[in-house]
Amino acid sequence: MVISIKPRRDAVGLGRGHLLVGGAWRSSRDGRTWRHTHPATGEEVGEFAVADAADVDAAVRAARHAFDEGPWPRCRARERIRVLRRIADLIREHSDELLALQALDNSVPLSFSDAYVMSPGCAADVFDHHAGWVDKLGGETLPPYQGGDHLVFTLREPIGVVAAVIPWNAPLLLAAQKIAPALATGCAVVLKPSEYATFVVLRLAQLIDEAGAPPGVLNVVTGPGEPTGEALVTHPSVDKITFTGSRAVGRRILHAAADGITRVSLELGGKSPSIVFADSDVYAAAAVTMGTVTVGLSGQACVAHSRALVQREVYDEFLSIAAGATALVRYGDPFDAETTASPLINGRQLERVLGYVAHGQAEGARLVCGGERVGGDLAAGNFVTPALFADVANDMTIAREEIFGPVLGVIPFADEQEAVRLANDTEYGLAATVWTTDVKRAVRLARAVRAGTVGVNGYQVEPHAAFGGFGKSGLGREGGRSSAEAFTELKTVLLPTTEELM
Ligand code: NAP
Ligand code: MG
Repeated sequence: MVISIKPRRDAVGLGRGHLLVGGAWRSSRDGRTWRHTHPATGEEVGEFAVADAADVDAAVRAARHAFDEGPWPRCRARERIRVLRRIADLIREHSDELLALQALDNSVPLSFSDAYVMSPGCAADVFDHHAGWVDKLGGETLPPYQGGDHLVFTLREPIGVVAAVIPWNAPLLLAAQKIAPALATGCAVVLKPSEYATFVVLRLAQLIDEAGAPPGVLNVVTGPGEPTGEALVTHPSVDKITFTGSRAVGRRILHAAADGITRVSLELGGKSPSIVFADSDVYAAAAVTMGTVTVGLSGQACVAHSRALVQREVYDEFLSIAAGATALVRYGDPFDAETTASPLINGRQLERVLGYVAHGQAEGARLVCGGERVGGDLAAGNFVTPALFADVANDMTIAREEIFGPVLGVIPFADEQEAVRLANDTEYGLAATVWTTDVKRAVRLARAVRAGTVGVNGYQVEPHAAFGGFGKSGLGREGGRSSAEAFTELKTVLLPTTEELM
């Protein structure tokens, strides 16, 4: 049966999305809009405003005003904590609605909300977590180093107006990871969601407004990377850019930050290895690794473990379990509880993934299964069956570039030394997982592999711990104290304490 998303849209009441500027919802100045096409069905499911440079300027001015003149950076810690906790409560109360909107945006199946990081509950926890930092981020007092008697102390002050740009794949978590620490430290934010996941972010913004964030503290500009994102990251009144997305756009943003000497943090892509030793639970290793490129997001996740490094003794076993796991993947209506995997987000990404599958074969890798567009009743959607490549060499394009789709390449290794060398032979360094029952080896590998997060016999994103990349996977860390501090400037104060100086 051909699936349709329209009845779901009508049930949720999805209409037209507006911009949030200075506490007011409004259309774009020139009335331009964008129609969102659902990736599972090709139907138009919503329409939202496209902010141009003038709209973005208005949003940045509103944030500037809220920061320079408004109550938020100046209010008592207790008040800020209350607002952040209220945001968390409202997200939990509206969990079902947010999940439905997310599926209308990006077609991530509702069944995948069981995965903690994709759940509204996780986004809520991020706000609770940062509410906890509001009254704990402080400076230090130092003894005088030279001259007369004075106190030397440091203050952590909010960094100012924050431009936040996020991708479409985990919009709630990624919006929370940027908005929560910015609000906790007293900043004002202009957020640009992806054009492929706008509605869920607009609803989140309504909830933040409802929770009592003063006007202008959170502004949302919708629209594509160009003109909207570009206008935001190049705006001269922005004090900090925080970006999550691809390496190509990250590089452009770094150029913009260089021009403005703007503070910047980047969460970019990965080509993360799953390193499987013969002494491990090979069944779990193969099923979980294949799962990172199939379950839920179909590999459209920064932490997808798309490079499996497998010890030769268990190489064939790994391949047969991974191939078997692909048979369990179910595509279709994201609202259907049976659906386990999403389509690719748009036609461009669909072509890219199919291109990599063809390229992998041309490079001499062996396609064990998958890599085909799904036809029949699902032909209108961007569905591709999970591709498993064996006999991959680490210098092949499919082992080096982030594919961002359901493609796993399996590379054999002989010993621990070779495994470490292959794991680190990448430009990226976001995540890695070591599969072994030898605890000493696990510790050796955790230290030797150059990645921001290393899992042992499993991997998950922990929203309260530092998350980010080595190498070309990014700059800076998100999560926990480090991300709260990244929204502050450190100021030193010199206070004379002798009478003559007072
Ligand atoms: P993307 O194309 O880089 O887009 C990310 C965001 O940047 C979107 O909001 C996009 O807008 C916007 N954008 C595009 N061009 C821009 C420009 N010139 N100036 C300013 N903003 C611009 O990434 P994506 O395809 O949505 O997401 C996939 C990438 O994100 C992958 O590389 C993945 O690894 C990475 N990612 C990283 C993490 C992490 O935490 N490290 C988490 C998730 C995803 P539009 O979408 O509207 O064009
Ligand atoms: Mg894009």
